Amino acid sequence: MKLIISVILIALLFSASSTVRSQEIKREICITVDDLPVVTKYFKDTVTYNYITDNILAALKKYGIKSIGAVNAGKLYNGRTFYPERYKLLKKWLDAGQDLSNHTFAHKNYNKITFAEFVLDITDGEPILNDLLKPYGKELKYFRHPFLFRGDTKEKADSLQIYLDERGYVVTPVTIDHADYIFASAYEKAAFEKNDSLKKLIADEYFDYMGKVLDYYEVQSIKLFGYNISHILLSHASLINADNFDRLFAMYQEKGYKFVDFDDAVKDDCYKSKDEFYGKAGITWLHRWAITQGKRGDFFKGEPEVPEYIENFTK
Ligand SMILES: [Zn+2]
Repeated sequence: MKLIISVILIALLFSASSTVRSQEIKREICITVDDLPVVTKYFKDTVTYNYITDNILAALKKYGIKSIGAVNAGKLYNGRTFYPERYKLLKKWLDAGQDLSNHTFAHKNYNKITFAEFVLDITDGEPILNDLLKPYGKELKYFRHPFLFRGDTKEKADSLQIYLDERGYVVTPVTIDHADYIFASAYEKAAFEKNDSLKKLIADEYFDYMGKVLDYYEVQSIKLFGYNISHILLSHASLINADNFDRLFAMYQEKGYKFVDFDDAVKDDCYKSKDEFYGKAGITWLHRWAITQGKRGDFFKGEPEVPEYIENFTK
C-alpha cells in the first residue's frame, strides 16, 4: 500500500513539475561583441582601449559567458603602420577563452560595393586572424556581416552566401539588434567632456532601453515562432558597454535568461528558417524570417526608441 501511495505521489509531483516547466518560457541568449578590438569616436589612446577590453572581458568572465568577438582587422593598421598594442587586445580575448570572427577588414558596406570588392574585404581580414587563432588551437570559422547587410539583391545575397559556405565560414546571425551605437556615441562624448552627470543619465537610459529591447524581441519571437527562441544579441566593444555590461548581464539574468554559447544557440530550429529578404536594411534575422513569412507593418511595431536628447547630443 505504502509503495502504491509513493508511486502515485511521485507521479503527481512529476506531472505537476512538468506542467510548470511547460508553462515556463525558454530564455537563452548568446552574447556577441562587434567591431573589435574596440569601437571609439573620441578616445583613441591605448589606456582607454585596454580599459574597454579589460572591462568587457571581466564582465563576460563574471557571468561565465562564452562570446564571439567580431574583428575588423583593418583597425590594427594605420595605412602601412601596424599597431602591436591593438593586436595585443585581441590576444587578451583569446587568453580569456573567447573566440573571434571575421567582420571584414574595413567594415565595408556591401550595399555600396560589388561582390568582388566585398570578397576582398573578407580575405583581407583573414591572415592576421589566422595568425592570432593558430597558437590557441583554433581556426577562423565565424563570419559576421558588417551592418548586418547580407546583400540587397537576391543575386548579391546568394553569391555571398555561396562564397562563405565554400570558404567554410559559419555565419553568426543576430536576432536582437538595437541602437547601442547611438548611446555609445553620446556616452563617450559625455565622458570626453568630463560631464559625469550626463554620462550617468545616458547609462541609465541605456540600461532601461536594453531591457525593453530584450522584452520586445521576446514578444517578436513568440509572435513568429510560438516560443521564445535562443537569441543571439549583437553588441559592440564600446566604452558604454565596458562600463555597463556587468549590470546589463545581471538584468538579463533577473529576467530569467541563461547565457549560452553560439554553437548551442544555433541548435534552435529557428535558425533553419528561410531568409528571403533582399532589402538594404541591416535588420535582425528574426525580422528577415518574419518578412520572408509575409509579415508586414504592424508586426514590427513597438521597437524601443532612443530618447531624442541622446540622439541630438551625438550630433
Ligand atoms: Zn560592425
